Amino acid sequence: MAKIAIIGSGFGWLSSAIYCAHAWHDVTVYEKNEQLWWRASVLERNGFRWDMWPSWYLMPDLFEQYFAHFDLNVHDFLKLSPLDPSYKIYFWGTEKTIDVYKDIERNRETFEDIEPGSTDKLYEYLKISEYQYDIAMQDMVPKNYDSVFDFFTWDMMTKWTKMKVLSNLHSYVKKFFSSDMMQKIMEYTLVFLWTPPKKAPAMYNIMTHVDFNGGVRYPQGWINAVIQSLVSIATNKGVRFHVNSPVDKILVEWWVATWVEVEWDFIEYDIIISNADYHFTETKLLDTQRQTYPQTYRDKKMMAPSGFILYLGIKWKVQGLCHHTLIFSEDRDENFKDIFDEKKAPTDPSFYICCPSQTDPSVAPEWHENMFILVPFPPWVILDDTERKEYRECILSIVENEIGDSFVDRIVEEEYFGVEHFQERYNAFQGSALGLAHTLKQTAIFRPNTKSKKVRNLFYAGGYTNPWIGMPMCLISWQLAFERVKKYVNA
Ligand SMILES: Cc1cc2nc3c(=O)[nH]c(=O)nc-3n(C[C@H](O)[C@H](O)[C@H](O)COP(=O)(O)OP(=O)(O)OC[C@H]3O[C@@H](n4cnc5c(N)ncnc54)[C@H](O)[C@@H]3O)c2cc1C
Repeated sequence: MAKIAIIGSGFGWLSSAIYCAHAWHDVTVYEKNEQLWWRASVLERNGFRWDMWPSWYLMPDLFEQYFAHFDLNVHDFLKLSPLDPSYKIYFWGTEKTIDVYKDIERNRETFEDIEPGSTDKLYEYLKISEYQYDIAMQDMVPKNYDSVFDFFTWDMMTKWTKMKVLSNLHSYVKKFFSSDMMQKIMEYTLVFLWTPPKKAPAMYNIMTHVDFNGGVRYPQGWINAVIQSLVSIATNKGVRFHVNSPVDKILVEWWVATWVEVEWDFIEYDIIISNADYHFTETKLLDTQRQTYPQTYRDKKMMAPSGFILYLGIKWKVQGLCHHTLIFSEDRDENFKDIFDEKKAPTDPSFYICCPSQTDPSVAPEWHENMFILVPFPPWVILDDTERKEYRECILSIVENEIGDSFVDRIVEEEYFGVEHFQERYNAFQGSALGLAHTLKQTAIFRPNTKSKKVRNLFYAGGYTNPWIGMPMCLISWQLAFERVKKYVNA
């Protein structure tokens, strides 16, 4: 039995901790903040309850598989309701609004109106997406990449070719759909990975399969119910948690991590798994000679955007919204340019609006609305008070205009969260909301490894490493981190 310390309590932590404890290891988790599971934190105030980050329950198959590993049934823990329509879309600068249903035939009229012939093209697109999803989930995603030989095998090369890994998603989508609107609908799934479609490999079209074929569900009560269920499993398996316990240093002797320093206390461990931001772990918890990647490597990395986020409690039942609503910017390229190149508050922003009180009355007082508005925003950029107020007014007026309802005068609760909070509260590099973007050069073998190259018993789990971001993918990172632990213990 090994004594394992896990630094940080995100999804990667939960999934790794449960698996390690299930294999009878002694697992202790240290979390910097007062709540476990940061990227799924909760804000509660005067009868409102906001899930602060994840709000889409996707890839239900992966959750089912995860629970099944422990002979558990996810449905005994979560009451999952399908959302139908899955979401609503507004196209900024046009009169067009569409509700997207899981059943494609219900969308036929809308899609044909946008681009004649597009529904049949969508069937074709989805057939390929499903095929690619199966390949990805069987062979590529649940895999630790250690050397080029894990990647460039004959079998893998054949599969990568089928996955169209070398073309970008935008070029791939253009082969099926000619209208800007249909292209935007197909490419929006990249918002889950927060990467421009011209920079993401075409293989991420599998997210369209996830969206249309898999459907969008909502765990009744709130999305945090997912975390609660994982925490209860972890507790039953004997995992110990320490909140308000930031790890300040990992001490290494002869290439082996021996101690973690937690607020002047030194505790000895056999294995350490870091779920905290990869960049932070490398640069702040380890000495330079123990870092896997040099600064030059890190400087070249492209970070996913941060967010300008407003949590709103509204004394009004707002019209024109679904549980999930998207407002697409008029000119995506300009929007990405503002975020990634010019690093300024987007003037033609995209919006994601989550309004769970549309389907779940328990998240807001009666006749009130619980809403969160997220605008992808450049990392590093911190607005001063005046700029923030101006930007808030600007985005709220766009939202009111688009959805055709006024609610700003009826806001009774409000909280802002932005780049500075991601940085200070969660040690997120550049204040990015999600970590590394999903470009080709940051996928699979090119993504930071789940294993330190300089410290034998230090491993990584979570969205920064393989496979990629998102709750279901972080669940898979358990498997990858645990494989590392097993190999180390048995060596
Ligand atoms: C705005 C937003 C919306 C999202 N929406 C969705 C969605 O709808 N669906 C979906 O599936 N996914 C969504 N995601 C992505 C998903 O939430 C993340 O990919 C996932 O939760 C990341 O988990 P993680 O394991 O990488 O750990 P993280 O959640 O990043 O947790 C890392 C933990 O480490 C802690 N820590 C940092 N430094 C230290 C230290 N020194 N000592 C101890 N602890 C430390 C932090 O406080 C934090 O708790 C969203 C993310 C964001 C930000």
